[in-house]
Amino acid sequence: MHIKSVDVIPLRIPFEDGSDRSPGLMPTKWTELDMALVRVETSDGIVGWGDGFAYACRRSTVTAIEDLVIPQVVGKDIDDLITFNRELQQRLHLHGRYGITMFAISAIDIALWDIAAKEKGVSLAELLGGRQRETLPAYASLMRYGDPNLVHKYAAKAVSEGYKTVKLHEITVENIEAGRDAVGDDIQLTTDVNCNWSLQQAHEIMPHMKRLGMFWVEEPTFPPDDEKTLSELQEKYGVAIASGENACTHVEFARTIPKIEFCQPSVTKVGGVSEFMAICFQAAQAGKTLMPHAPYFGPGFWATAQIMAAQPACGLFEHLYIEPEAYLDASIPLPKNGIVTVPDKPGIGFEPATEVLKKYRV
Ligand SMILES: [Mg+2]
Repeated sequence: MHIKSVDVIPLRIPFEDGSDRSPGLMPTKWTELDMALVRVETSDGIVGWGDGFAYACRRSTVTAIEDLVIPQVVGKDIDDLITFNRELQQRLHLHGRYGITMFAISAIDIALWDIAAKEKGVSLAELLGGRQRETLPAYASLMRYGDPNLVHKYAAKAVSEGYKTVKLHEITVENIEAGRDAVGDDIQLTTDVNCNWSLQQAHEIMPHMKRLGMFWVEEPTFPPDDEKTLSELQEKYGVAIASGENACTHVEFARTIPKIEFCQPSVTKVGGVSEFMAICFQAAQAGKTLMPHAPYFGPGFWATAQIMAAQPACGLFEHLYIEPEAYLDASIPLPKNGIVTVPDKPGIGFEPATEVLKKYRV
């Protein structure tokens, strides 16, 4: 493919989550979905879409795409996407191998894979080796409400909608207990701590996680790349640990996969489809199931569904349990009865509505 142009479209879409009084998960109160959307067009007129992780860092990701990535892509002939991704990482490695630089590389990589599949007239899953399944089991990824009544309310609501797995973002035993109370014993319950516990707190709280039958505990302590501590907590308390949403490239996952039960690559962070696929191979070889991080609604959502549909062993699809004011593509396959139906259109299947892009562009 010959790349004619790359455009970056910064977006901000407000959402509702029912957590007025909650502390939220972000450095500031989280009420809007920030996106760094890229539109790539080839000289043959094929358009591909991608996005780089942009929550609370939209301007940084957009700038990295504009300043670092676009000059390396426009006007180029790209045939081998995995080799191109590697070369891009090598050219940009002075800017760091993790964080914003990789978010920017992820955006372009997703768009290039979208184009590659569209060129062949097949879905991305088909291009990646074939659709192994039509549907994916999803879980409801609740916000951090910080209030046992709200935790109870939304956990029960998710179960009533058909979810078989519910993820909390609660960090106190009281709030996590409220979640278990709401969902009952037959639903898989997890909590995402987002690195909030000190090691001492982790040792105090993990026995309760065992007692409450947690399916996994996510990123219990800081730093999340301290695999040794994660592995020790998992061993000592017999509760599965999940981590990886803050890891980038297969190099980091090669260290993490053997240490914990569930790794969580994020396609908009990890280096795009190219890196995600390498991690899929590593996980398969280790006999581990990936639980992808996918709390977004742009191309990353669609690309994650396609990658998961192409895997022989598939984990759970993360659905962020909020209501955005608008979806970029109204045909987004949101979970129904806890199940995502994977689109079978060419590419990742994503086609944003022009009027939505116009309205929410910042
Ligand atoms: Mg998480």
